[in-house]
Amino acid sequence: MAEKSTMKPPRFRLEFWGVRGSYPTPDKTTLAYGGHTSCVEAAVGAHHLIFDAGTGIIPLGKKFANGRSGPQHLNLFLSHTHHDHVFGFYFFEPLFRPGNRICVFGPGSPEMSLHDTLRAAMEPRFFPVKLQDINANSKFYSLQGGERIALRDSRDLPRVERGAGGEAGNGVTILVKKSKAHPNGVLLYRINYRGKSAVYATDVEQKNGGHPDIVHFIRGADVLIHDAQYLNREYHSATNPRKGWGHSTVERAAEVAKRGAVKRLILFHHEPTHDDETITAMEKRAQGIFPATTAAYEGMKLDLFRLR
Ligand SMILES: [Zn+2]
Ligand SMILES: [Zn+2]
Repeated sequence: MAEKSTMKPPRFRLEFWGVRGSYPTPDKTTLAYGGHTSCVEAAVGAHHLIFDAGTGIIPLGKKFANGRSGPQHLNLFLSHTHHDHVFGFYFFEPLFRPGNRICVFGPGSPEMSLHDTLRAAMEPRFFPVKLQDINANSKFYSLQGGERIALRDSRDLPRVERGAGGEAGNGVTILVKKSKAHPNGVLLYRINYRGKSAVYATDVEQKNGGHPDIVHFIRGADVLIHDAQYLNREYHSATNPRKGWGHSTVERAAEVAKRGAVKRLILFHHEPTHDDETITAMEKRAQGIFPATTAAYEGMKLDLFRLR
């Protein structure tokens, strides 16, 4: 069934609720960019999409819970299940509201489904609330990369298809790519809607010039949200090199944006030991390579239909 978006102007808005990598930083020196870990909200067409459940999803959950719009249909996409990307999941209020429907997408295989992984993380040894205590109508989708997720009418369940094919029409589609450029792998997501696109590519360690498969995946996107955790001198430090830790330098993020001919680069997953001043300097550094760069900060909003 087609969505009723023809009656409203098309909507593709992003809001950043958590931009920090690795662990939350409530220190005074990091408040300008913010201390919550990864979470990006995307309001696309008639759909609510959320990327990652770092601690930034906690205030987002309160916003949904305080709204008076009745039951909600939410779609949560996890890049991977490292702690900094799921710690807010357990505190996401809409999960505990009967009547809500939450579809959770994330890495999983026949041996270990996404549901099994999250259930293990919520065992009583680790957390007092069990996964089965969630009283929203929750559905878990294990992804391995290569899928195409179609969201049509917001009342219908998402359709997960493997490979290309099929036309979304006016609906929202999300392409899933698996990358090995992070310990234990990571999923990258590309949202396409009415000729506009945004890519969520956190926790990815680019090589010089970028991984060709990722450059291909991001090509021409209006917005690229990309890991830019390190300074060159940290990455190549003689005493404590960060090479192999699964994150990119700000220079590599900018080079990849340039190579992929995206329209706008958003530096994301900020290193927790970097203060505001350092991140501002990193933004300038990236702009020297790719001018249309902004360092993500908590509360930042982008409207893809109004980007210059
Ligand atoms: Zn991370
Ligand atoms: Zn990670």
